[in-house]
Amino acid sequence: MNKSKIWLSSPHIGNNELQYVNEAFSTNWIAPLGPHVNAFEQALQDQTQTKHAAALTSGTSAIHLALILLGVKTSDNVFCQSITFSASANPIAYQGATPVFIDSEKDTWNMDPILLKTALQEAKKNGKWPKAIIPVHLYGMPAKMDEIITIANEYGVPVIEDAAEALGANINGKPCGSFGTFGVLSFNGNKIITTSGGGALLSDDAEMIEKARFLATQARDSAPHYQHSHIGYNYRMSNVLAGIGRGQLEVLNDRVGARRNNYERYKQYFSKYNNSGFNIKFQEESEGYYSNRWLTCILVDPAKNKGLTREVIRLAMDAENIETRPLWKPMHQQPIFSSSKSYLNGVSDNLFDNGLCLPSGSNLTEEEFSRIFDCLDTIFSKY
Ligand SMILES: *Cc1c(COP(=O)(O)O)cnc(C)c1O
Repeated sequence: MNKSKIWLSSPHIGNNELQYVNEAFSTNWIAPLGPHVNAFEQALQDQTQTKHAAALTSGTSAIHLALILLGVKTSDNVFCQSITFSASANPIAYQGATPVFIDSEKDTWNMDPILLKTALQEAKKNGKWPKAIIPVHLYGMPAKMDEIITIANEYGVPVIEDAAEALGANINGKPCGSFGTFGVLSFNGNKIITTSGGGALLSDDAEMIEKARFLATQARDSAPHYQHSHIGYNYRMSNVLAGIGRGQLEVLNDRVGARRNNYERYKQYFSKYNNSGFNIKFQEESEGYYSNRWLTCILVDPAKNKGLTREVIRLAMDAENIETRPLWKPMHQQPIFSSSKSYLNGVSDNLFDNGLCLPSGSNLTEEEFSRIFDCLDTIFSKY
């Protein structure tokens, strides 16, 4: 018996994407740039309440350009949230700079403002001033941006807000992506909306975004021939993919709604076990925090769950062809960053040890939910 795969988070196309793509084809706007790119950038600005947006090839390239624009160079330090996808930190290394990793707090699972302050105080003493701070909104849950921005401003360090997982999330109505000097979005295939691959750099600083567009299109000086006085990059989004993005943005609210329903559904499901001796924990919203619930994640502490571990759940689900995944492995535990300095408090280590991301697509069917819950029922019945 071959059961079809239930994915963690698969693309979910709406009604208008193909029409926009057809428009690009019929007008022969296949190259990078073009009317869809302009319209997509405008729509992203409206969605995130930012003044300027540059559509790019990926979230990774957006972070890279933000670091370049902030003048990050060899031997500079950049503070980065430790628990995240490696793409938050890799561009620091592209610049030959050094990441310093900051652990999380328990409420949002994101950068701990207290540890950030400690790290800044120490940097002030030893003169290793960071050129930027990169907090992340893990799984769509906003980081404590008010605290982080206040501390960053106090020390005069710009913030690159990695909102790759958090389009549609907000704090008291202020959208994720609009808090930092720069905001970063991703439209990779597994994100809440997708252009198959893509990203965006957001800012209220017109000059910075203009410069980002210049660097992203090979840094051509204005001259009839090809003339260059900067190193350029090929980071601009194509007009075809921006067409997909326009259609996807139109359905963003539906996608957020569907994913928030997934979360509620899982929470409801697990409550019957939590009422009978188990203690499955969730990433909870504090007052004013609105997560897009990109992925629903649980924490399974074996000491509080009759010995049940997230690995038991992961392997049992895998045997049923249901994809789940441990939470991001913190950067301070990654072989490639093992020599980096980090400020730790045990929170992200615990999240990695006990955390599991559950299937969370906005296109999950009733039948798929039944299979997931049947599998979980079988596991719980053994404990
Ligand atoms: C997906 C992701 C990125 C990178 O985005 P790409 O578009 O895949 O390059 C960066 N940071 C975080 C937190 C992500 O989840």
